[in-house]
Amino acid sequence: MVFPSALAVCPLFLYYQIMAFTFFNTAGREKQLFTPLQEGKVGFYGCGPTVYNYAHIGNLRAYVHHDILVRSLRRAGYEVNHVMNITDVGHLSDDADDGDDKMVKSAEERGKSVLEIADFYTQAFFNDTDRMNITRPSVVCKATEHIADMIALIERIEKNGFTYYAGGNLYFDITRFPSYGELALLRLDEQQAGARTEQDKNKRNPHDFVLWFTKSKFENQALVWDSPWGRGYPGWHIECSAMSMKYLGENFDIHAGGIDHIPIHHTNEIAQSEAATGKKPWVSYWLHNEFLVMDKGKMSKSAGGFLTLQTLIDEGFDPLDYRYFLLGGHYRSQLQFSMESLQGAKNSRKSLIDKIRSLADKVGSPANGNGEESRYIEAFNTAIEDDLSTPRALAELWGLLKEGPATPGALAAVFDMDRVLGLGLETACGDGKKDEDEGFAREIEGLIAKRAEAKKARDFTTADKIRQDLKERGIILEDSKDGTIWKRQ
Ligand code: AMP
Ligand code: ZN
Repeated sequence: MVFPSALAVCPLFLYYQIMAFTFFNTAGREKQLFTPLQEGKVGFYGCGPTVYNYAHIGNLRAYVHHDILVRSLRRAGYEVNHVMNITDVGHLSDDADDGDDKMVKSAEERGKSVLEIADFYTQAFFNDTDRMNITRPSVVCKATEHIADMIALIERIEKNGFTYYAGGNLYFDITRFPSYGELALLRLDEQQAGARTEQDKNKRNPHDFVLWFTKSKFENQALVWDSPWGRGYPGWHIECSAMSMKYLGENFDIHAGGIDHIPIHHTNEIAQSEAATGKKPWVSYWLHNEFLVMDKGKMSKSAGGFLTLQTLIDEGFDPLDYRYFLLGGHYRSQLQFSMESLQGAKNSRKSLIDKIRSLADKVGSPANGNGEESRYIEAFNTAIEDDLSTPRALAELWGLLKEGPATPGALAAVFDMDRVLGLGLETACGDGKKDEDEGFAREIEGLIAKRAEAKKARDFTTADKIRQDLKERGIILEDSKDGTIWKRQ
């Protein structure tokens, strides 16, 4: 597909960027050519954080994945509406309605209100994502601010006959939805045989899930709302269906999250959304990122012991070192984290910036290419089009810097590639130049001061030598009654 608007976005290149993305769609388990519902526009919903604690570095992997997706689509000329939820109510420690409410538990432990906890960790979350150069979503929506939308959606599900009321809660009846579990390739008979240990006795089927809680084991639930089913609060999954449809329409293009969301959260989102609207498929493409693991174990927020971005910063890393580390793995492969491999990423990012700075020193500013760099851009685009292969894309960037032309076009190509990678290369390059310029100015001013001292001490040999040395470096000194100024020749 050709998007002439890409030209406007990227005036440095005199050719169209033709990008035909293929994404691995969890629904169907195959790579599929991406065709949006509306030409040139993409509706994208990425499951956001549950704000009861800091994000751990595994969570940040999910948001870097969303960011690469959004940046790639925008660079290709798509208008992307990116919606992300903030879960500040109703997420229990087990996605299948077991355990404690994560927000309530955290608030009790910290002696704060649920809303204070939510505000604090929402800010901390965006502080982390900003530091990792993750683009902010177009819409950020909080669950607690969309209770009316959730109630309205549950009413539609109920009206269509997919619910039952038991023990004070309203449940979704999966037997009324024959395609339940298709996304996760669930074998319901097997799952039922190995039923969960801590089973909610009100459920007719272990996979049924709560749409609205009124009476439950959480008598001290901090936040409750009136509803047609009594005063209570929503089940966790309904927020994503209600808010995504509110901002993106009843059907939209892409939905993403970590692989842990496939069997329960996203499976339930599909069931309740399609039960409400009757329009299938609710979402065209499901993208799921694999986990970041440490010592062969899963990193989890609820387990307590986890690394945050701040831990990495305290260890002397830049947040972008971690971003570089993540881009080195494909989002659908498990990634093993260690401080040693992060150190490797830090070293590589530094060499990358050094290489770009020396290219910039040689060629000056980025400018229209003469075509020599286009081979690298095409290969880079091919890698990104192919299910967002950031490891291959990074390799193409390195290839351009190691073997490509040293031209203003090559520098423009580097910065163009970074519109997807988000490594802040242009800023790093500019900062380096600024640092160098400032360092240079400091050095010259130091020499001028030395010369003034020499003149005061009537040491004219030294004073003349300083003037002569600077002249050889292209710097002219002009003396006046107010002091000495310097100029480049
Ligand atoms: P949560 O705040 O727990 O709802 O999780 C936020 C996002 O992080 C979700 O998309 C999860 O699937 C994802 N996630 C959780 N743990 C990891 C991990 N270790 N590696 C990658 N993604 C993760
Ligand atoms: Zn969700």
